[in-house]
Amino acid sequence: PEVSALELIEASDVTYEQIGGLADQLREIREVVELPLIKPEIFERIGIEPPKGALLYGPPGTGKTMIAKAVANKTNATFIRVVGSELVQKYIGDGAKMVHELFEMAQKKAPSIIFIDEVDSIASKRLDDTTSADREIHRTLMQLLAEMDGFSRRTNVKIIAATNRLDILDPAILRPGRFDRMVYIPLPDEAGRETILKIHSVKMNLSSEINFKELAKMTEGTSGADLKAIVTEAGMFAVREEKLSIEKIDFINAKEKVMSSKKKENMLPV
Ligand code: ATP
Repeated sequence: PEVSALELIEASDVTYEQIGGLADQLREIREVVELPLIKPEIFERIGIEPPKGALLYGPPGTGKTMIAKAVANKTNATFIRVVGSELVQKYIGDGAKMVHELFEMAQKKAPSIIFIDEVDSIASKRLDDTTSADREIHRTLMQLLAEMDGFSRRTNVKIIAATNRLDILDPAILRPGRFDRMVYIPLPDEAGRETILKIHSVKMNLSSEINFKELAKMTEGTSGADLKAIVTEAGMFAVREEKLSIEKIDFINAKEKVMSSKKKENMLPV
């Protein structure tokens, strides 16, 4: 079947206000991605080349995709999302061609942001070039590097890549002139968890006994995605018992449920 990069365009209605606990990281990313898109003249005036993009790394579910979408939304940019593992699995034999089309389309639809999720699956230093599957992945990476090197810093196309595995990234992708900034996106601290819990329960009916500070203390080690799941589960516990509002016990039960299923996930063989 004919593959088209057009399918990779996604809506991005995420705003910065919906992202909890990442103020410093957001400031850094906005400076390298948003600023050159909205005020390129500042870079010109000062006489420095604008950045091409940023690499976000850190544990899963911490908001990397959200950040990329929020920047696209803020800059009215076309948001184009590719997943590294899909590039090699879904478009078998066509990975390199897709990468080429991707950059072509980004240019055509500019301003645009190309978001490459799971970039480690095409840019892993663990690849073994003796298998044909790995050679195909390598070709896809080579095409990506060529496209990144080939496009001008002054075009209004920016790249954001994300990975949970900085440790296995091929150093080629980190070479200067490719990703100009690497930003660590950590698990939220206590204050961050409090904000994220509030963000996700804003439309919910909560009992007055709910204390977000306390909930944040209880959820050490969770990601933004876990916190969202906890809020949703707490709602489900209240619904099941046909309550008028969500009570503290619902959050406690929800936390137990989400944390124990997370533990099971971590025990799955990989
Ligand atoms: P992965 O590495 O697994 O792709 P990610 O870091 O890209 O994950 P997202 O897809 O952005 O994570 O997050 C998943 C969902 O978790 C978001 O849609 C959002 O609902 C929630 N979430 C994650 N981080 C945050 C955050 N910092 N603030 C608010 N919500 C968050």
